[in-house]
Amino acid sequence: MEENDVSKFVAKPLHSISVPHYKNTMDSGTEIMPVPEKVLLPMIQHMGAPCEPVVKVGDLVKVGQLIGDTDAFMSAPIYSSVSGKVTSISEFINPMGMRTPAIAIESDGEQAISEDVRPPEVHSKEDFLKAVRKSGLVGLGGAGFPTHVKLNPKDPDKVDTLIVNAAECEPFITADYREMMENPDDIMDGIKLVMHYLNIKKCIIGIENNKPRAIKLLSKMAEKERGIEVMTLKSVYPQGAEKVLIYNSTKRVVGEGMIPADVGVIPMNVSSVAFVARYIKTGMPLISRRLTVDGSAVQTPKNVMVPLGASFQSVIDFCGGFKAEPKEVFMGGPMMGIDVFNLEYPVIKNNNAIIAFDERQAVHAKESNCIRCGRCVAACPFNLMPAAIEKAYHLKQVDALKGPLKVMLCMECGCCSYVCPAKRQLVATNKLAKNLVRKATTKK
Ligand code: SF4
Ligand code: SF4
Repeated sequence: MEENDVSKFVAKPLHSISVPHYKNTMDSGTEIMPVPEKVLLPMIQHMGAPCEPVVKVGDLVKVGQLIGDTDAFMSAPIYSSVSGKVTSISEFINPMGMRTPAIAIESDGEQAISEDVRPPEVHSKEDFLKAVRKSGLVGLGGAGFPTHVKLNPKDPDKVDTLIVNAAECEPFITADYREMMENPDDIMDGIKLVMHYLNIKKCIIGIENNKPRAIKLLSKMAEKERGIEVMTLKSVYPQGAEKVLIYNSTKRVVGEGMIPADVGVIPMNVSSVAFVARYIKTGMPLISRRLTVDGSAVQTPKNVMVPLGASFQSVIDFCGGFKAEPKEVFMGGPMMGIDVFNLEYPVIKNNNAIIAFDERQAVHAKESNCIRCGRCVAACPFNLMPAAIEKAYHLKQVDALKGPLKVMLCMECGCCSYVCPAKRQLVATNKLAKNLVRKATTKK
């Protein structure tokens, strides 16, 4: 496919910034966290519609047993990560302020596996997509987009390239790197399954050049496979953002209102693609995930395989607790992660890191007036104008935000806030501005 027509300057990701990598845990092999005494599993752990509980208080459940599901297409089922007893189903408010039911399960310590866990029968594309949905998989890189939806675009014949996102450009996070170093066979098997069942002839594995060992390992494996190549990418932020990665590896532009499949691409996170292979082999749905625990407040930073629903506090305890009082805790990395104020909050499917900063590392710079330096514009991958968006938001100029300022293109990468000398909270304002536009559009 030729480079698509770029009629608008906006949406062509041209800019990036340098951020310190702090990949301290690169060489920390994944440690498996013991099963916690209880888990809390919210019915929304993905982009899309929440699930409905299919168990009730008092039910005994096993590992891999379905506990939440829905008929909605844009959703993914939820399974128990422990065997034990359902002790409550109550309202839960996630860090984004969304309210959903959450199922609390007290572990019996047995980890008895559900009889429903068995490898799926896959003979066709339809079987494959059904299996991916049943696996409960959502984008493990942080976005939480249901994978079966991503693999099932409206016009599948248009798709000619699978892009495996192994950039991992966020500071601190090394969970995907560990997947590459520990499970390269699963990655290759997952890629081949996706290529086979979706009839995709080409796959690009995009890895930043600060991971030379992963590049070497996967390049050697890719040499033996038809249509699979490793692309070495510059270590810049936000190299792993979907639209940026697609542009940098194919020169195709995912414009406003488009999805990657519109430009012939399906992007998948590297840990997600490896999980697909494991699910097809074992039938064990998504009940645990690897995450990086790091930051100046953490005693022993490491990569940990965590049962979904374990509390942040239990994961921190497994890492030796805090060595300093945490002033800021992120679900995800410091650039795109979400502030978490309650350490009883559970680990969910799209949670790739817990980063905890002490007083010294946490940034609480005071905002001052915009000096119109233009650095935020120069840093924005999509050439947006964050200072103008901020002004339009405060004036509630919905048409301007939606129209010329194109706020809906903002991917909340945080580059603008990072470079702003006046420490304006630009990305936070952009999120509010996007909500304002969404609300106004829904009303009409
Ligand atoms: S967060 Fe800022 S830099 Fe990133 S896309 Fe949005 S406006 Fe651009
Ligand atoms: S970087 Fe900050 S100070 Fe400079 S124009 Fe943007 S908002 Fe204003």
